[in-house]
Amino acid sequence: MPYDYDTLARWDREHLWHPFTQMQGFAREELLIITRGEGVYLYDHQGRRYLDGVASLWCNVHGHRRPELDRAVAAQLENIAHSTLLGLAHPPAIELARRLAEMAPPGLARVFYSDDGSTAVEAALKMAFQYWVNRGRPEKRRFLKLSGGYHGDTLGAVAVGGIPLFHETYRPLLFPTLEAPAPYCYRCRDREDCREQCVTRLEELVAAHHRELAAVILEPVMQGAAGMIPQPPGYLARVRDATRAHGVLLIADEVATGFGRTGRMFACQHEGVSPDLMCLAKGLTGGYLPLAATLATEEIYEAFLGEFHEFKTFFHGHTFTGNPLAAAAGLASLEIFKKDRVIEGLGEKIGLLARELAALAAHPHVGDVRQRGLMAGIELVQDKETREPFPVARRTGHRVILAARKLGAILRPLGDTVVLMPPLCITLEELKTLTRLTREAIDQGV
Ligand SMILES: *Cc1c(COP(=O)(O)O)cnc(C)c1O
Repeated sequence: MPYDYDTLARWDREHLWHPFTQMQGFAREELLIITRGEGVYLYDHQGRRYLDGVASLWCNVHGHRRPELDRAVAAQLENIAHSTLLGLAHPPAIELARRLAEMAPPGLARVFYSDDGSTAVEAALKMAFQYWVNRGRPEKRRFLKLSGGYHGDTLGAVAVGGIPLFHETYRPLLFPTLEAPAPYCYRCRDREDCREQCVTRLEELVAAHHRELAAVILEPVMQGAAGMIPQPPGYLARVRDATRAHGVLLIADEVATGFGRTGRMFACQHEGVSPDLMCLAKGLTGGYLPLAATLATEEIYEAFLGEFHEFKTFFHGHTFTGNPLAAAAGLASLEIFKKDRVIEGLGEKIGLLARELAALAAHPHVGDVRQRGLMAGIELVQDKETREPFPVARRTGHRVILAARKLGAILRPLGDTVVLMPPLCITLEELKTLTRLTREAIDQGV
């Protein structure tokens, strides 16, 4: 017999510490307990239905309870739930590695598994660092990051993060980095007269520091957690050119942008860019199970080869790395991409979202709308003319998502930027509903 809502809510208050949540106010809000999902919908304990407007934190791709994915996980469960990749292998991990290498930007032939986006980034940072150690260039050990960057919450990932609210507290624990300004055009002082100072500054930093730089790390095309900050066309290609010209590795964190989110399978493909290392997670299993991968070029991989006693080995790995159930889900997800021609079908949805966002941009409290593919941010402001934000304590973004919840949509803001990030399988009709509910929620919340 399942426990009733009141019991669960009490136990939640007594024992659960929710991530990224100020628990003090949280206990006073009505707790929403999701009991099941179907397609783009989530259902709560009372059977109320909600559109999953942020794809269960940016990871769901083909919908909940997708039969092919359910079957793939169940079928793998008939064989084994978990076996390690440390010194052993299993079919799903092998097959998925081959598929990922096939579809990734050219050159990324090696797949190193871990469990979530943060660990994929940790692995990439340590690989980049050790690559130069193994190559006899240990002085190349610094990382260049972007302001507003987000790469996860473990300490290495935090060190290359650029969101003061999330990262500043931990500064004494972090290794020092170089930081280039992200292209946040809406709040850029030079926006009327763009001289591309942001990318120029990055190029200058790479040129000036290349002797000590191991790698540049960034979220290609769209910075997610910063508040959906898109890069102007050509930006990524210039970063690639600068890093290549100066012998600095490029780490593309595609944890959020990967698997169709921006309209191509990987965001790097918009600019024909092949990074040296690429981090994948969130959508890798269709959003079903935790699994991540750090893809590397053969050149990086080969720098780790040697006799055992040379200690060039990559001494890194997690217990559940490349878990078979998760890898089976990953394979099934890629099969759906192919069978349903998912990427080819996105154009119409992306176009519709663009039109709906353009209409929303006229709203008196919408300062800016930003979109790449099915990844969008709506920045709310107190004053549209001056672009003055709402007072932080007012929690405008949070109010909006509470209103959305009453209207039947699950959203999650980044500050006062409302994020839209539906599963890619959303229909045109459902997408219209999502943007309509978002508009109503904004009206009620601001
Ligand atoms: C979510 C995210 C991460 C962290 O992934 P987790 O699975 O939450 O550890 C890293 N990079 C980017 C760009 C992300 O959006």
